[in-house]
Amino acid sequence: MKWDYTCKDCGVNTKKGKINFYGVTEELWGKYGVGKGMLCLECFKKRLGREFVREDFIPCFLNYFVNPVVRDIIKPTEEEVNCLFHKLRKY
Ligand SMILES: [Zn+2]
Repeated sequence: MKWDYTCKDCGVNTKKGKINFYGVTEELWGKYGVGKGMLCLECFKKRLGREFVREDFIPCFLNYFVNPVVRDIIKPTEEEVNCLFHKLRKY
């Protein structure tokens, strides 16, 4: 099965660029997300109806290192980065 990377709201290809790779908490995605579908960061923010705060995002590689927009919101501390690497090593 081919994964659909199209934003369900605006139709943009979320695979283009890095700013649409992100991970939010299950609670937020459950409320505002589109299940197994994709939403670009902008559309998710529109659904959310407010600016993002760091607590919206889960500690993961995408948020900390891939997406410059999300990274700027989270501004992960050295401790948090170390904590993430510690977790990743377990797998
Ligand atoms: Zn969109």
